[in-house]
Amino acid sequence: MKPFAFTRATDADTAVQAATQPGARFLAGGTNIVDLMKEGVEAPDRLVDINRLPLAAIEAQPGGGLRLGALARNSDTANHPVLRTRYPLVAQAILAGASGQLRNAATNGGNLRQRTRCPYFYDVTQPCNKRAPGTGCSALQGFNRNHAVLGTSAKCIASYPGDMAQALHALDAVVQLQGPSGRRTIPIAQFHRLPGETPELDANLAPGELITAIDLPAESARFAQRSHYLKVRDRASYAFALVSVAAALDMEGSRIRQARICLGGVAHMPWRAREAEALLQGAEPGLPLFRQAADAALAGATGFEHNRFKIELAKRSIVRALETTTRSTA
Ligand SMILES: Cc1cc2nc3c(=O)[nH]c(=O)nc-3n(C[C@H](O)[C@H](O)[C@H](O)COP(=O)(O)OP(=O)(O)OC[C@H]3O[C@@H](n4cnc5c(N)ncnc54)[C@H](O)[C@@H]3O)c2cc1C
Ligand code: SF4
Repeated sequence: MKPFAFTRATDADTAVQAATQPGARFLAGGTNIVDLMKEGVEAPDRLVDINRLPLAAIEAQPGGGLRLGALARNSDTANHPVLRTRYPLVAQAILAGASGQLRNAATNGGNLRQRTRCPYFYDVTQPCNKRAPGTGCSALQGFNRNHAVLGTSAKCIASYPGDMAQALHALDAVVQLQGPSGRRTIPIAQFHRLPGETPELDANLAPGELITAIDLPAESARFAQRSHYLKVRDRASYAFALVSVAAALDMEGSRIRQARICLGGVAHMPWRAREAEALLQGAEPGLPLFRQAADAALAGATGFEHNRFKIELAKRSIVRALETTTRSTA
């Protein structure tokens, strides 16, 4: 491993200042960044340990929302009573990920920033535009079973591997950031990004920008009674999603007032299926409607040699998640 400098920050200003230097990276739970360093995928000049920053609280907000500290551990977040009652979709998604031990160490901020599991990204002997811009994309002609079918580019077809973020996107969470130019707030829809011409960038963050918290809006709690996170994977646990669906319905009598669907495992970022959501709005739930919505969600999908199955799998997963959602009574 390449030698690196180490800064243990005790306040956010110091952390941001240190992380703004070229080649610096934050260290939170370390469950992703340390692996990447051991494999030689990332070789930071400086690690900025943020574990002593006061960002681990999970706090109910005066207006009824819930603020998840960036350094709150995934386990503490998933087990928080307010989250479980008002935003059970987020708890389900977190608990579908990794293992108990990993969730005890992993933080909410680090989870949002975790990097793709494309095998060529991890294999430093192979060309990869995300790891080494301009070298090419080995997955295009290689083994691409886990890769994206929506929003890909000629430069990268990697998929986003996380679970929690699908639920956060479905519930219109808001990300609190602190950077060298001060604090700002962005809707989570603007946080992750598609690969385009610059697949080395996973998120729309400035150098040194620190996630301080993730806010769940009060109004998204109306989906609590009918929401479901479905994760389809090769093993029953401890595996990344082939496809996942965060689905939520808000009902008005027998009709759907509003629907939320966000897909995982199919794109470089959590993929909100807004066409499908629009089809569901105002309609009575039922299998034909769910199938129509699933077709709309995947209308723009293009598979590669080993992952075409994901398109049909994603459609069926949407239908199943929506069916489960209509049965929810939490
Ligand atoms: C074997 C294994 C299986 C896994 N399975 C799953 C799974 O099924 N589903 C799933 O969702 N995840 C899974 N994970 C990923 C795991 O959840 C992430 O590694 C973890 O959430 C990252 O959090 P961390 O705090 O450890 O981040 P770190 O490893 O400390 O950091 C990750 C990245 O985030 C940056 N970062 C950290 N905190 C901040 C912040 N506050 N602001 C800005 N940048 C920050 C770091 O600089 C780094 O680039 C798995 C991991 C492993 C090792
Ligand atoms: S899909 Fe993306 S991460 Fe994977 S090899 Fe291609 S450029 Fe690299």
